[in-house]
Amino acid sequence: MLNSSLPRLAIVGGGFTGATVAVQAARRSPIALDIVIIEPNAELGRGLPYRGSDPDHRVNGPIATHSIDPLDTSHVQRWLEKTHLLTQDPGAHCSFGTFLRRGDYGRYLHEAVQEFASRNESGSTIRHQRSRVDQIHLTANQVALKLQTGESLLADSVVLAFGNPAARVPPMLQDLTEHPSVISSPLAGDGLQALCQRLTPGSQVAVMGTSLTAADVISTLLRQSSGVRITAFSRRGLVPHRQRPPDAKAQQNLPQTWLVDRINGQVPSYLDPGCGSAWTVRHLCAAMRQRIKSLTSQGMPWQQGFDEARDVVWQFWPLLGHAEKQRFFRRLRVWYDVARFRLPPQTAESLDKAVTAGRLSFCARSLVNVKALNNGRLELQFQRQGQAIEQEFDALINCTGFDLGGDVDPLTLAGRMVQSGLLVRDQSSVGFRVDQNCRVMGFSGQSSPRIRLVGPATAGVFGDSLGAMFIAVQAHRMLPSLFDDLGLMPYF
Ligand SMILES: Cc1cc2nc3c(=O)[nH]c(=O)nc-3n(C[C@H](O)[C@H](O)[C@H](O)COP(=O)(O)OP(=O)(O)OC[C@H]3O[C@@H](n4cnc5c(N)ncnc54)[C@H](O)[C@@H]3O)c2cc1C
Repeated sequence: MLNSSLPRLAIVGGGFTGATVAVQAARRSPIALDIVIIEPNAELGRGLPYRGSDPDHRVNGPIATHSIDPLDTSHVQRWLEKTHLLTQDPGAHCSFGTFLRRGDYGRYLHEAVQEFASRNESGSTIRHQRSRVDQIHLTANQVALKLQTGESLLADSVVLAFGNPAARVPPMLQDLTEHPSVISSPLAGDGLQALCQRLTPGSQVAVMGTSLTAADVISTLLRQSSGVRITAFSRRGLVPHRQRPPDAKAQQNLPQTWLVDRINGQVPSYLDPGCGSAWTVRHLCAAMRQRIKSLTSQGMPWQQGFDEARDVVWQFWPLLGHAEKQRFFRRLRVWYDVARFRLPPQTAESLDKAVTAGRLSFCARSLVNVKALNNGRLELQFQRQGQAIEQEFDALINCTGFDLGGDVDPLTLAGRMVQSGLLVRDQSSVGFRVDQNCRVMGFSGQSSPRIRLVGPATAGVFGDSLGAMFIAVQAHRMLPSLFDDLGLMPYF
């Protein structure tokens, strides 16, 4: 029901980011709000990663880090007890914790929004308007949103939660995107499923990329296409590390706020270069290496040292100069990513088995060209340590990730906002400029108190706003300023 007398918060995009912003706003606002999420998909919470139903695609962290509300970290656990979901998915639980199927996690997010849609601490309402926002502009006191359905919506505050850009299609695949054996965007559409049905035992499949997306795609291939042989390659051939086993002692009697406390806590002193010295990537690496060495020598997992720094990246990333950030992207990002984005234990196990059985291999090589052969196969030309290698495959799947740093598509909302000067790229061109409270900073260089951007598109400013827990805590940090800009009473 539309309640025009209440301040209206419009959220553009109903994936994880939109869902967590809506629920936290409804639970923490000092007064009732009319919260509208504009999202074209039928169910909220089912953004890109969580709308599929592949049983082998699991969230990559344990459930306590995936609550919709970071001040209520046992919320997923309570939902699991209520729905008895684990009886249908006994494989979710292992000695490392509970790792839900991503489709089930999407259902959790959808139901969590429903739970708080009309019953929440502030008396707010959360509505889903099924559409896409085409254009946004500022009026004297409000923000006007033009929807694809032709309607217009006025809001007092807007949070942009439109997620990541489209998948990156490497140049050598750009003329082959329609080829039946080339899957250029495995997360979109049903191209991967159709390919799995066509493959026969003995088919050779090349997977370009060795990250988490590649791991998901490989799990699907292994289950759905028996007898296929998979070669996954990337420039360095690095495969994501595994999650660490939980530290049962450290997890005892944790307050519900432990996640917020951890991410918003102080930057460990060993990371600080001290004495007013500039923050450099070199110092950070050396400090992390030393810390990890010291922890592992005491029998602790390396992940603990890594995570201490990862959790507070948003605090020290802005302190690095532009040249340092570029150095990180050029030299270190690939190493950071394999330690940061870890395999769920179930996926790690299935990949290990396939490697042992000779069905899967990982290798370091660069793809330079792809030729479509008359017999329907593909000839891939690689470079490896100055040597040219040619190999034929029955299919090629692109898992090289999002088009971060590419041109902003002018036909998207972000593209239109760039054209109208409301959004500008951040210095590293990973996402868009925002101030520390996520207010977008347009062409004028001034931050806009009525429009905020949360989630992956702020990664250039905060370093790591990509995983669910970082986004949830980012929303938690951002909300007091949003309430303040709306002229509401002080945050409680
Ligand atoms: C394959 C994959 C697996 C992942 N797994 C995990 C994991 O296990 N754990 C974890 O913590 N993180 C994971 N992540 C990270 C993930 O980015 C975040 O968890 C989260 O999904 C980001 O949510 P989002 O809402 O910002 O983006 P999305 O989930 O992409 O949602 C954006 C939404 O915005 C909508 N939208 C876009 N433009 C408009 C518009 N103009 N108008 C209206 N709506 C619009 C889209 O329809 C979409 O629903 C994964 C990412 C990927 C890609």
